[in-house]
This record gives sequence, C-alpha cells and structure tokens, in this order.
Amino acid sequence: MSELPQALHDRASDSIRQLREAVAAHGKVCYASSLGAESMVLMDLVWTQAPGIDVFTIDTGRLYPETLDLVERIERRYGRSLKIYSPDARAVESWVAQHGINGFRAGTDERRGCCAVRKLEPFRRGIAGYAAWVTGIRAEQSEVRALAQASEWDAQNGLYKISPMLAWTDAEVWQYIRVKRLPYHRLHDAGFPSIGCAPCTRAVTAGADPRSGRWWWERDDARECGLHPRARRAVTSLG
Ligand code: SF4
Repeated sequence: MSELPQALHDRASDSIRQLREAVAAHGKVCYASSLGAESMVLMDLVWTQAPGIDVFTIDTGRLYPETLDLVERIERRYGRSLKIYSPDARAVESWVAQHGINGFRAGTDERRGCCAVRKLEPFRRGIAGYAAWVTGIRAEQSEVRALAQASEWDAQNGLYKISPMLAWTDAEVWQYIRVKRLPYHRLHDAGFPSIGCAPCTRAVTAGADPRSGRWWWERDDARECGLHPRARRAVTSLG
C-alpha cells in the first residue's frame, strides 16, 4: 500500500476497514467477483489485506475467452485458485431447449430467465452458508447503484450485502490497477467498461454511460442482471 499516492491510499484504507469490519460483524463473508476493473482492486484488497473473506466468481458458459484468460492470470499472480461456480447443466439444457441458444434476446423476461439460470442459481450456491456477501459496485456506475448502502440487508438473498467500493471513481480504480500492476480484463482496452457474457456485452463510445454496453436492446431501468435490485425493488449483478 505504501506505493500508492496519499489520496488513493486513504480510499483503499477505507475499503479495507469496511472489509475487516464486515468479517468482525458477520463472521462468514464471501466476495462474488465480477472480474471487472473494480474487481481487480477489490480482489487485491481482500487477498492481501482482509483474509477470511472467501472469493468466488461465476462461469456462465457464455463468457469471453479473455475472461477465462484473466482468471488464469489472477491465479498466477496470487498463487491461489479462484473458486468458480457453473450453472446447472440440466437447467441450461432445459432453458435452451425451450427458448433457443440466444433466446435471451427475445425480451426482458427471457433475458432475466437466462440470467436466473446461468448467474443467479450458481450465485445462490456461492453465497449459501454465508452471513454477508461483498460486491464491487460503485455509486457512479448507475442511478440504481448510487442508492446502495455500504452495508445493507439483502432481503432477497437473506444475508448482508457489503459494498466497499461505492465511493471509488473510475479514475481511482485504474490508478490503483496501474500503480499495483494488477492483471485486468484485456477487453477494457478495447472500449468495454463493463464486461459480462459475450452475447450481452459490447464496447461503448468514449463518454457514454458505462452500462450502455450491457443488454443495449433493453430499457435503461431494466439493465441489471438480477444481483442488484432497487430499480425493480428487489432482485440482485455481479457486474
Ligand atoms: Fe444469459 Fe446474457 Fe444473462 Fe449471460 S448476460 S446469463 S448470456 S442473458
């Protein structure tokens, strides 16, 4: 941490404090990593400063190859394995048989149905048995996320939700990544501010809403994958 500029050091220290307080308050805490830029920072903070928090991510089966390469680079950097949850194969087969391999494009309900099978179900297995889960959402990412609290009860999933990156700016995230020379998703360099499943993520033009590259065929207020509610009152997104 000593290599960080003072303001960034203070920002990181505040997040570390929140993470440690979460462990002290809740005991069993997990971190659901989106593998986005914020996640590189948060994973570094957790694995180097807040041991005791279990980290996992979800391989939906529709990820970019670059995402899987990133997992390998992360594991090499930290010398440890990242727990990966995959969707139930029979549930995916059944959903695809009913809706088609890209059936999520038919409408918001179909897209949410695909996210439920490929993301929410493995996510719920990932958080099972934990008292709190950590997410890397930032307030400036969307109006929905700006409403989040640093620590709040997640009624839908039945555990506390901890968001220690809320105050971070995009510039701070990238400054941390550069100073610490962290691995990061190669598609960020190709105009992808937010990266999820390949068919549902695309590059955006400079200055555009970062989340406009996700599910771009839907209304603005529908674009969360189910892990972060509020706009629709209660559902949860890794990224
Ligand atoms: Fe399915 Fe797209 Fe959701 Fe991935 S982001 S789970 S492909 S609808």
